[in-house]
Amino acid sequence: MSKIYLDYAATTPCDPEVLKAMEPYFRERFGNASSIHTFGQEAKRALEDSRQSLALFLGAKPEEIVFTSGGTESNNHAIKGVAYALAKKGNHIITSAIEHHAVIEPCCFLEKNGFRITRVEVDKYGLVSPEDIKKAITDKTILISVMHANNEIGTIQPIAEIGKIAREKGICFHVDAVQTVGHIPVDVNALNVDLLSLSAHKFYGPKGVGALFIRKGARIEPLLHGGDQEKGRRASTYNTAGIVGLGKAIELCREKMAAEAEFQIRLRNRLIKEIPLRIPEVILNGHPEKRLPNNVNFSIKYIEGESILLSLDMLGIAVSTGSACTSSSLEPSHVLLAIGLPHEIAHGSVRITLGRWTKEEEIDFLLASLVKVVEKLRSMSPLYEKK
Ligand SMILES: *Cc1c(COP(=O)(O)O)cnc(C)c1O
Repeated sequence: MSKIYLDYAATTPCDPEVLKAMEPYFRERFGNASSIHTFGQEAKRALEDSRQSLALFLGAKPEEIVFTSGGTESNNHAIKGVAYALAKKGNHIITSAIEHHAVIEPCCFLEKNGFRITRVEVDKYGLVSPEDIKKAITDKTILISVMHANNEIGTIQPIAEIGKIAREKGICFHVDAVQTVGHIPVDVNALNVDLLSLSAHKFYGPKGVGALFIRKGARIEPLLHGGDQEKGRRASTYNTAGIVGLGKAIELCREKMAAEAEFQIRLRNRLIKEIPLRIPEVILNGHPEKRLPNNVNFSIKYIEGESILLSLDMLGIAVSTGSACTSSSLEPSHVLLAIGLPHEIAHGSVRITLGRWTKEEEIDFLLASLVKVVEKLRSMSPLYEKK
């Protein structure tokens, strides 16, 4: 039995072409990109090519890209970096109620250190209202941080509109775009953003490498102090192979993204239509249209998401319940609670995320398996029996 991976929002496999592009940088081109000899300059050239590719994808300037160790570091850098740089100007930060932990936690840390955080609520689809952001702004507001698309329910936020408000008020605007870069167009100018986080392992690149877009002129302190890599904005020896992998991965996405999204939207919509037809009492989480091409998230009443996940896993299918971070704790996901689901329904949610190698037959098998698994679990559920 071949395994079926439908958890692309947690991480993606490295594309074989990415792996091939990286390999020489573990072998003969191992130089330190800060060295001035030929070994170093070879590495430096490759790294600058990646910067160019990423800048092109984002509509940014190459010098506005800082390579990091991934989405978590980029978010920490953006949030703490702006807080430290602008602490004299103000201490208020606005964010949303459904951010990734890599945004929530740096905000909580700052909150314990004298900053004030406003977490703007979302509607039942998980949408942030730009009007609510506007109302939350005070003369102490130094940063607004709202994610581009949610990793659990796939809802895509009105980033350009929020960015317009931030710009009018002269407030720095950060966007966690880890779920969108490589999957849908992300243009830092069209979106009016000042800082934007991304991570290679979410778009068929390697784990442990990402980037932060820092608009020219944005005031931000470094997170890592040390050597003068990245013009002093991020110390530490360059992860050359990882950065080369990120560059190759983004080039592949540029070529393939439009066709991939079209295919995924078709399969996604098939699941969104067929799951409620074949399984009674389910709720689609997230917005029906303003959502990631590859994201499907349902609450399946009267049973636990965890039981569904484990039962599907035994059939060789990998899905997720909420998000990889929340699935190890007993509390239901903060995202599902924020869109208004009661605890017991939030506990019964399954996330199915598609990717580059998803085939139509896999979706057929998933559907058939899900129907069987839900019937079996509900037949054992006292909650289901009672109704
Ligand atoms: C995965 C993810 C992150 C964390 O990125 P890492 O590279 O794994 O640290 C941050 N934000 C969102 C929305 C994510 O999906």
